[in-house]
Amino acid sequence: MSAIPTQHQPEPGLRERFHRRSLEHQRPLSTVTMAFTVIAFLCMVAARDLAGGTVAPLGYRLLCALVLALLVLAIPGTKSTWLFGAIGVVYMQVLIGGLVLNASGVAHPLMWLLPALVVIPICAAPLWLTPVHFFTGSALFYAVAVALLLLGKSHPRDIDAAVWAWVVAVGAPTAAVFHFGFYRFRRNHFLLESQLAQLAATDPLTGLQNRRAFVKRAEERLAMLAPDARISAIFLDLDSFKSLNDRFGHAVGDRALHEVGQVLMGQVTPCDGASRVGGEEFAVLLDADLAGALQLAERLRGAIGAIERPDGLLTASFGVAEYRRGESFMVLLDRADEALLRAKHSGRNRVCAERALPLDARQPTFGGLSAQDGARDGARDGAQDSQGSEQGSGEAPRYRWDGFRLISHFQPLYSLSHQKQVGFEALLRGERDDGTLVPPVVMFAPKPSSDEGALDRASHAVHLGNACRQLPGGAWLFLNILPATFIADGYADQLTKIVRGAGLEPERVILEILESHGGSVDDMSRAAALYRRHGFLIAVDDFGAGQSNLDRLLRIRPDLVKLDGELIRATMQHTQQPILPTLVSLLHQAGMLVVVEGVETADELILAVESNVDFAQGYLLGRPASEIASPESVRRQIDDAFDVIAQGRAHQHALFESEVEPYRRELRRAADALLAGAAMADAFEALARLEHSISCFVLDETGRQIGHEVRGPAWSEAMASLQPVANPYDARWDHRPYFRNAVLMPGEEITSSPYLSLACGGRPCIAVTLAEHLAAGRCVIGVELDWSARGLPWPGRD
Ligand code: GH3
Ligand code: MG
Ligand code: MG
Repeated sequence: MSAIPTQHQPEPGLRERFHRRSLEHQRPLSTVTMAFTVIAFLCMVAARDLAGGTVAPLGYRLLCALVLALLVLAIPGTKSTWLFGAIGVVYMQVLIGGLVLNASGVAHPLMWLLPALVVIPICAAPLWLTPVHFFTGSALFYAVAVALLLLGKSHPRDIDAAVWAWVVAVGAPTAAVFHFGFYRFRRNHFLLESQLAQLAATDPLTGLQNRRAFVKRAEERLAMLAPDARISAIFLDLDSFKSLNDRFGHAVGDRALHEVGQVLMGQVTPCDGASRVGGEEFAVLLDADLAGALQLAERLRGAIGAIERPDGLLTASFGVAEYRRGESFMVLLDRADEALLRAKHSGRNRVCAERALPLDARQPTFGGLSAQDGARDGARDGAQDSQGSEQGSGEAPRYRWDGFRLISHFQPLYSLSHQKQVGFEALLRGERDDGTLVPPVVMFAPKPSSDEGALDRASHAVHLGNACRQLPGGAWLFLNILPATFIADGYADQLTKIVRGAGLEPERVILEILESHGGSVDDMSRAAALYRRHGFLIAVDDFGAGQSNLDRLLRIRPDLVKLDGELIRATMQHTQQPILPTLVSLLHQAGMLVVVEGVETADELILAVESNVDFAQGYLLGRPASEIASPESVRRQIDDAFDVIAQGRAHQHALFESEVEPYRRELRRAADALLAGAAMADAFEALARLEHSISCFVLDETGRQIGHEVRGPAWSEAMASLQPVANPYDARWDHRPYFRNAVLMPGEEITSSPYLSLACGGRPCIAVTLAEHLAAGRCVIGVELDWSARGLPWPGRD
């Protein structure tokens, strides 16, 4: 730790900041002191009039008091140190001028003024902000006083000169001591204060801003954001950092954190700002749109990826989100965090952008009020236009929003088994008057005070108007719908009317409920039933991302579930096997058809087919386009995927069988030995020596273990991390497929599918079992094999 230098920011404009701070400190004190002096001056004016003799006109003296009062009033509004000093200097000269005027005509003016001459420069000394002000003010004060007093006397007496000498000899050094004493005190106080502020805002390990300072500064920046400015947040978390600490110690972890801090300082400008917001989590707020922030995130990923750790290179996962007007900084950070989570789930060491907002119509984008009104009109006109087209007008309805013409793009969905297009998802796009398309990022860039709902409804009218002319007979139209629109009163009837107006039947429309805030699950499940009565099919979009959860799914009971594209790439922790097949099987059992989105590569298509997915969509199968494309080449691709799988399955089966065969053989031998009366330790000896054997066991008729298991090389104490369930003796295992299947086919060796074994720390295992009649009755003899090593063949899926 001590080897890590903490960073000291150079202090630009320290002197300037000190003077500004001094000004703030001194302002109230100066105002009060100077105001009192005005009152003292007025008292002195009254005293002089009582003394009688030749008196300077009262008007002149009161004028001096007025000027002094105005200078006092100017103090609270003073912005610069310079002006503050100038006011002080002028004030002193006017004051001494007024005093001399007031004392004119008395026998010994110097005696009258003596207290003021001594006290005023001493009292004013601490109030001067800088030595320059002090010297200028004091020198002018004495000079004006001497000049004025000399002016009134043609022959100064020696005694006057002596008094003057005393005044200056006592007053000037005392004033200097006061001034410099206070000056030093203020300066030290200021330095300590700024040091403390710096410490309170800095993370000591990395030298970056800490979370509190970062959030405070970010909130200030958002509050002052120019109307057309774009700003984005990057959230990053180091990958597998715990293992670095655990294996090499905290000092190594700390050094890595420090190096990441250096990378951030080097790549992020001070105006933007980076922070260590948690243990190994960092955040950046930068003046850039989403695309700019993604570029920086990629650069940071590259730079962090070059930092060495003892077992390789450091990596980090990134989430990026752009600020939307009206939201708080914490909400922005939350969205970046959500993207970060997806980056983690899809394999780490990558950058994920926030979810492209609702469909294309999902973005709360279009600004001005008139535009929204326009859209409502558009939606209404749309319904009429559609009726018009049904009557044969043939003219494509036009809808405008915020200066763009709204048009539909359609992206095909394929049934994998049928290898054909079965539907099209309608996606909203904007077109400029010159015919150029507005990229969705621009068109759907967050803008203030937009009405998502109006745009959502307008998009339905646009898509239905366009689909009625293009949709091939029998194909489904997938319409995205925001939860808030979905549950809005009366919208089911309204949408049915628009659908019929467009010449379609609700049965051909699948409503994709978007993954976003708004709408309770109860409301959505009620609304789903209502739409279903009208004939619509219901799909839930982006399952596996953000708000989605199993409870929401089971209560809405959609006909289809669209899986988030990242889920295709998600893998199981130990084996790197994809989780898609299991997920699809679960959804099928819940009675829902499954669509995967985001299929981009042939491998992903193969996995989708192999996982029994019903429908697929993605760039590989067809990009969104305004014209519906021919399905020919895609049909070939899906066909190829089936071929690859058929060949792969046979190959995989052969590999799996050859891997398991030695265990079967030895299990048979062990069973024979047990039948012949051998002890368990002897009977299992050869089987327990094989590489993947965790333990060999015998279960009685009720699935309870008999005797001690015989442990193999794959057994290790460390595996028993699920301590409370690690002991096999107090459990029944007759519900496990390896038990039931063995009992169904007595005398035959059965190989199970992989399962997570509680007895071995939740790792994937397979079991080879065999049912026989031993002396203890009908028993299941078996061996549990550790199947977590990479590269082991997995059984074909059914
Ligand atoms: P993942 O890829 O999922 O992020 O895995 P991970 O291992 O990074 O998981 P997680 O985020 O849960 O682990 C964070 C670890 O960071 C836990 C803690 O030991 C470590 N950590 C947090 N603060 C510090 C610190 O100041 N110094 C050190 N050396 N380690 C820290
Ligand atoms: Mg973390
Ligand atoms: Mg981490």
